[in-house]
Amino acid sequence: MLHAPMTDYLELERRHAPGVYAPRDRVFVRGEGALLFDSEGRRYVDCAAGQGVAALGHAHPRLVAAVARQAATLVTCSAGWPNDRRAEFGARLAPYLPVKDPRLFLCNSGTEAVEGALKFARLATGRKGIVALERAFHGRTFGALSATANPKYRDPFLPLVPGFVHVPAGDLQALGAAVGADTAGVILEVVQGEAGVLPLQGEYLRGVERLCRERGALFIVDEIQTGFGRTGRMFACEHHGLTPDLLCLGKAIGGGVPMGAVAIGPAVAPLTEGSHGSTFGGNPLACAAGLAVLDAFDEEGLVERSAELGAWFATELRKLPAPAVREVRGLGLMLAVELGRPSGPALKALVDEGVIAIAAGATGVRLLPPLVIRREDLEVALAALGRAVTA
Ligand code: PLP
Repeated sequence: MLHAPMTDYLELERRHAPGVYAPRDRVFVRGEGALLFDSEGRRYVDCAAGQGVAALGHAHPRLVAAVARQAATLVTCSAGWPNDRRAEFGARLAPYLPVKDPRLFLCNSGTEAVEGALKFARLATGRKGIVALERAFHGRTFGALSATANPKYRDPFLPLVPGFVHVPAGDLQALGAAVGADTAGVILEVVQGEAGVLPLQGEYLRGVERLCRERGALFIVDEIQTGFGRTGRMFACEHHGLTPDLLCLGKAIGGGVPMGAVAIGPAVAPLTEGSHGSTFGGNPLACAAGLAVLDAFDEEGLVERSAELGAWFATELRKLPAPAVREVRGLGLMLAVELGRPSGPALKALVDEGVIAIAAGATGVRLLPPLVIRREDLEVALAALGRAVTA
């Protein structure tokens, strides 16, 4: 193992960096709960959780033990063969899902889950079209990117997959005009995360589901960011009584061990043998991590914690001074502080204050702390935000 000053690690990583990530000036080497530590020993309150991944925080003893145990038992087993951990994981996850009689396709990331859902929608309906929403973010591979709206992500890679259209979020009439006899599915996020933490209204969402049923299109919900307690319910669909035909999961599902999943309802399953697959998907290591995540949710009441702490945090954030803060949006511990100006300088000032957050659209600060975060750590973040947004 290398032991070098921070500048050496920065230089070493930069030498082989692909260039797609902005350069940074910190090297994180360790985490504990909702805290991160850099190579100089400085501590940070982590309000990003690796883009919403670390719901259990860092180095959660249950996750550490489960992964270590499974690593010493069986790391890899193709989904072509049954496996004890995978069987247990499916049985344990199914009762939480807002999908009827769910079957699970397991993969390794959010974008793969979306990719799978789009393929399954075409396969099950025999139709080609996908309707997505303006401002949507669904991932970076070609299918998922075709459902993503932001031209900054799309334009360098044109042409994308044919058959995708985008309609304004919240406009049922526009959706009605876009969903036709060749529409395989409508895909949406219940809270548009990357766009700036924009919650969609329940009436609209239920209207989308109804329209899908009327027109024979599949209702596809992307809960990659909102799932696993992030919004104060296990799944954001529960806020509005939604029952997707296809549900995309990722991020927190493996507590940091790469994992994704598509929950597949009865209008779609069973799928044709050989129609899709994944080498790593459903590997025993990720499934053991997923089981540990679900155990921690049950034993530590993380969903309730997200709802309660999130409500308190949002109330406190709303006390930050206007006009530096224009608005606070979100649900549970998925929150955004809208600044109405580019958020880059505030995010940088936060790092100097010892708080890690991410962008919410171009002009907001997104806060996705681990659900295990202590109130005193959120108080530190709050005070730092107060200084960072007024600097
Ligand atoms: N869908 C949503 C709603 C997301 O927030 C993300 C990632 O931020 C993705 C899909 C893509 O997930 P991944 O980065 O794991 O491919």
